[in-house]
Amino acid sequence: MPVPCARNETGDPSPPGKGAMITRTADWKNALATAVRDPADLIETLNLPATLLEPTRSAAAQFPLRVPPDYLSAIAEGNPHDPLLRQVLPSEAELQTVPGFEVDPVGDRAAAVLPGVLHKYRGRVLLTVTGACAVHCRYCFRRHFPYTTENPRSGDWEPALRYIAADTSIREVILSGGDPLTVDDPILAELSGRLDTIGHLRRLRIHSRMPTVVPERVGDPLLAWLTASRLSPVMVVHVNHPAELQPAARRALEELRGAGIWLFNQAVLLRGVNDSLDTLTALSEQLIDCGVVPYYLHLLDRVAGAAHFEVDETSATALIGRLREVLPGYLVPRLVRERHGAPYKLPVQ
Ligand SMILES: *Cc1c(COP(=O)(O)O)cnc(C)c1O
Ligand code: SF4
Repeated sequence: MPVPCARNETGDPSPPGKGAMITRTADWKNALATAVRDPADLIETLNLPATLLEPTRSAAAQFPLRVPPDYLSAIAEGNPHDPLLRQVLPSEAELQTVPGFEVDPVGDRAAAVLPGVLHKYRGRVLLTVTGACAVHCRYCFRRHFPYTTENPRSGDWEPALRYIAADTSIREVILSGGDPLTVDDPILAELSGRLDTIGHLRRLRIHSRMPTVVPERVGDPLLAWLTASRLSPVMVVHVNHPAELQPAARRALEELRGAGIWLFNQAVLLRGVNDSLDTLTALSEQLIDCGVVPYYLHLLDRVAGAAHFEVDETSATALIGRLREVLPGYLVPRLVRERHGAPYKLPVQ
């Protein structure tokens, strides 16, 4: 049975007030700091077979393991095939070279108009405000992205702001990364304040996995700057499986909704994680329970090291067809694929 959302529960979330603010900021930083990074810890905590240690270590040497505590607590113990575990456990399969799977499959480096500024689609500019993430998703196309050289240094927004101010066709700025909500609120508040003054902007969008993997992140300091802006706030979260919607994550989403933030979800279709009718149906229904509209279901970006997650286009299309038969249209996410040079994320028919 699904866990109810915050509005149906008693007590928490904690009331606003200076004390609460300070506590919550410390909480999310603490959650980030206590993320599991050592394969041996993960295997021991989750009671997994010791034989997994060597392959996990080898794969983690390429792209480190990182699992924050809330996400960890949602993983079932003793099951190497748990759908949440599969998203974060470094595996031997990542070390295989598979033709067609590349380092930069979506051409992001070519789309950068300035360091950290991607302007691929009309009217929208994406800022990669940090390379850091709270969780390391094994299928992520950014696993090889050279963040350190291609990100604007925190606080040095001037070139990006000048670029945005000079192009009156831009209506929306997307804060992305990495995960932009791993950045401190005072820094994001300042950036948001600067964007506010650019007259042709209408919306500020945030792409983040934090509200569900580090739910402590959603608190008064975040809501304060997000809701103070003249720009309409939109947040696109990233939930792949209904088991990620644990009570704390649900409360965080409810708080965002309660503050008037538009909430959408993007998921990636992943083999062995969510490639079944039942899982996708439950995901959509539980998202809307929390006020989140399913937006995109992405076909995997063909990034080196993630081939074992791929669901082929024919199976993906068939799955979406079956979803249409059991869900209202607004709960069926758009199945899309990102293609080099395309003017938008291409619908998969
Ligand atoms: C995905 C993406 C966007 C947003 O696309 P929408 O279809 O508006 O959600 C914008 N810029 C870049 C570079 C993107 O990858
Ligand atoms: S950018 Fe998103 S999908 Fe990629 S590792 Fe970070 S949180 Fe995961």
